[in-house]
Amino acid sequence: MELISVIVPCYNEEEAIPFFYKEMDRVSKLMNEFDFEFIFVDDGSKDSTLEIAKKLAQQDGRVKYISFSRNFGKEAAIYAGFDLSNGDYCVLMDADLQDPPALLPEMMNAIQNEGYDSAATRRVTRKGEPPIRSFFARQFYKIINQISDADIVDGARDYRLMTRKMVDTILDMKEYNRFSKGIFGWIGYDTKWIEFENVERVAGETKWSFWKLFKYSLEGITAFSVVPLQIASIFGIIFSLIAFIMIVVIIIRTLIFGDPVSGWPSLVCIIMLIGGIQLLSIGILGQYLSKTYLETKRRPIYIEKETNIGVQDEE
Ligand code: UDP
Ligand code: MG
Repeated sequence: MELISVIVPCYNEEEAIPFFYKEMDRVSKLMNEFDFEFIFVDDGSKDSTLEIAKKLAQQDGRVKYISFSRNFGKEAAIYAGFDLSNGDYCVLMDADLQDPPALLPEMMNAIQNEGYDSAATRRVTRKGEPPIRSFFARQFYKIINQISDADIVDGARDYRLMTRKMVDTILDMKEYNRFSKGIFGWIGYDTKWIEFENVERVAGETKWSFWKLFKYSLEGITAFSVVPLQIASIFGIIFSLIAFIMIVVIIIRTLIFGDPVSGWPSLVCIIMLIGGIQLLSIGILGQYLSKTYLETKRRPIYIEKETNIGVQDEE
């Protein structure tokens, strides 16, 4: 029988995991032509997430867990899950049931019978989300699609079923600054998009503050586009042109009308403007430099503290 690995990044999800397991157990019984393994990746939770995963593992041999030495972020958890999975197919799912397991049979059908390499999901509504957050999210998708090669779909979830081949390709991308939505789009392959209405969290709270999301969006942009770096050059060209025209205008005006001293306030404004743009450009440069700096250190993407994966195999 073919094996499906279900990868579940968990950060402080003690309330949600029991619901998740119950629902997933139900769906796995419906899909009894497949074997399942559930990999709970405990991303340095401070609550009893790990204990709950361990308890489940005792009851059900399909449950695997790994815990990190600290919170490494969802991207690291995703990578670890792929890394430790054995499945012929892998599916990535949030622990909070915002990614409905009930869609799984349809996703499987797309891969097995319609010839797709992966089946991904996108939510067509953002109901239950603060409007400001939705607004900024939309702007982010608009911008990133204009300035990068990676095809990143608005409303796309990380909830995605993939063939082993695609998972291995993702594992080959060992970058430290990971932006999975971009990676999935960048590697290509045929993806079927399945749409669904936004579902609210079954329990617990979102782990993403607005600030965290903002930083994450900058990560996505710097990871998949160098357009911001070109902005500095474009500003440079524009301002040089303006300066050149102004010099010509001022020389001619002085020759014709003489040189009455005026215009100090406007001069200060111009200096401030150009100074600001220079700092912005240096800042952008710094963003990329800091990413490069972290990449060159080749630090591990995650550090394992405890796991039951591989343990049974040795016994
Ligand atoms: N998550 C994680 N590490 C983090 C933050 C989140 O593993 O540092 C997990 C979290 O447990 C959940 C998933 O990522 O399973 C999505 O998080 P959340 O539901 O808080 O995000 P939202 O659905 O609100 O975008
Ligand atoms: Mg969620």
